[in-house]
Amino acid sequence: MGIFLDIIEQTAEKYGQFIDQTRSVALNRLPPSLPEKSPVFYECPFCGDVSLSVDAQKQHIIEKHANQHVYVKADNKVINDVFFVEGSLSSLDVVILGNQVGKVKMNVGDAHYEAQNISGTKSLMKHLKGFKNGVISIFISVLSTSKEYTIYCNEQPEFTSEDLDRSALEYLFIPLAQGKAPDFSYFNSHYITKVNNKLERRYAAGLHDYSLAFFMALNKENAKEYFESALSNLLIFNTNFAMTARRILALRMNSFRLLYKCRINSRFYLANQFFNVTESRYEIASVSSFNDKFGEKIDLTEYGVFIDEFTETFLSALNAYYNNDFNILAGLTEQLNKMILPDERNNQDKLFLLHARIARKIGKITEAKEYYQNLIYNPLFADEAEELLK
Ligand SMILES: [Zn+2]
Repeated sequence: MGIFLDIIEQTAEKYGQFIDQTRSVALNRLPPSLPEKSPVFYECPFCGDVSLSVDAQKQHIIEKHANQHVYVKADNKVINDVFFVEGSLSSLDVVILGNQVGKVKMNVGDAHYEAQNISGTKSLMKHLKGFKNGVISIFISVLSTSKEYTIYCNEQPEFTSEDLDRSALEYLFIPLAQGKAPDFSYFNSHYITKVNNKLERRYAAGLHDYSLAFFMALNKENAKEYFESALSNLLIFNTNFAMTARRILALRMNSFRLLYKCRINSRFYLANQFFNVTESRYEIASVSSFNDKFGEKIDLTEYGVFIDEFTETFLSALNAYYNNDFNILAGLTEQLNKMILPDERNNQDKLFLLHARIARKIGKITEAKEYYQNLIYNPLFADEAEELLK
């Protein structure tokens, strides 16, 4: 375990540290030197899951987040609860799921609107007439749930992460990496409870919960709730720390679709290939780009977020796997075997999959079958397992 920072492409530099749905568009402006074509992604505002079409995203929200009852679309895209828009909005809709009825309150600059008995899709555009710059706040309540959305129009919200990053490193991540208890109460009282800026408070809470989750996991406590709240707090931010943390969480929680966007420069590129790209199961589909970038060893940095030992070692193992360094790989998988705790299902399953693919890659089909046997009930890996076992 240690301190880790991903290499993040500056595709959304215009929007600074603050993330919003327009980043899917921003991805299409990648420099032409990058070998891959970039598809457009639709990210779930609740869990970060990535869909490849509007319909798939809609289906995902209905299946996974019906209990949220409501979401908001701006410019025809589902948005996060904090959103930045440049220019003027072409559409703004509240969508209430199922047959529920909701109530909407809205502040547009200094003006205030209210609407009762909203159901289905309701456009709020008529309240935006003439409004150009400033903040739109929308409060929606459905049953006992209420949600707040903040849309910044042509005005960047105030938010700086540098001090928070440094403090999180000092009070949370470095102690964790040294096997000590982080100073949660100091961090909490200085960077969360006393902070007025809503975005900074949320960012700090995300880094806090991220550390707390790993600390609990190290102490063999169930940390699922904190892993999830870390992810949802960090989803709206675009800083290197937030993006690296989200990718580590994605790998840790087996939410591999969150890695879809990891391109050739990312330290999670191989994980994306391994888990998300069928043609790259045994070797990277485009070999030349892989050799260019991954032949050299990446320097570890002392500036970044905490990474747990299993995830860090797993990334190294993937590197050895795609480089066909079977001796190194054998050593790393043996280390990984020893790190697994009895109830760590996610890590156990990832490791079974890696073992199975290694065995298959070197032609030991019987051994591969034994590993795949453990994955026949895993919703992510069952199809692949059955392919070999049938
Ligand atoms: Zn989701």
